[in-house]
Amino acid sequence: MSDQTLFEQIVEGEIPSYTVYEDETTYAFLDVNPLAPGHTLVIPKEPYERLEDMPAGAAADVFGVLGEIAAAVEAAVDADATTIAINNGEAAGQEVPHVHWHVVPQFEDGTARPIHVMFDGADLSDDEMETVAERIRDNQ
Ligand code: 5GP
Repeated sequence: MSDQTLFEQIVEGEIPSYTVYEDETTYAFLDVNPLAPGHTLVIPKEPYERLEDMPAGAAADVFGVLGEIAAAVEAAVDADATTIAINNGEAAGQEVPHVHWHVVPQFEDGTARPIHVMFDGADLSDDEMETVAERIRDNQ
């Protein structure tokens, strides 16, 4: 069995995909189970598992082309917008342990949904907000 991630095997061409972009560090291809026409996955070629595993330069390489790819996806399927998201970790629904940005077209035809529909919301007091903000600052 290969010790490469599924997405490394796609980059290598060992698993076929509909490639839509490639440069030295970044690769993009159509999701095999699209949430909408044009649903694209954008990945670093290096198999970092989560966003926080990526060195700043590697993340900058992906971000340097992500907007251009999203615009091309929108234009290709005549979408009105895109949702761009990472399932960052297993508990967030990440199935492939190789960080990837989902670029999902959205349409002004009554089907569009914001990511807010995924969550029930959290009712925090001012004290709780300050505590969590402080803990986030302390953990950087
Ligand atoms: P995750 O749940 O890890 O955020 O997303 C993984 C995505 O990879 C899923 O949307 C799934 O449809 C897609 N995927 C899984 N296997 C393959 C494959 O072999 N080829 C392609 N193109 N996409 C895949």
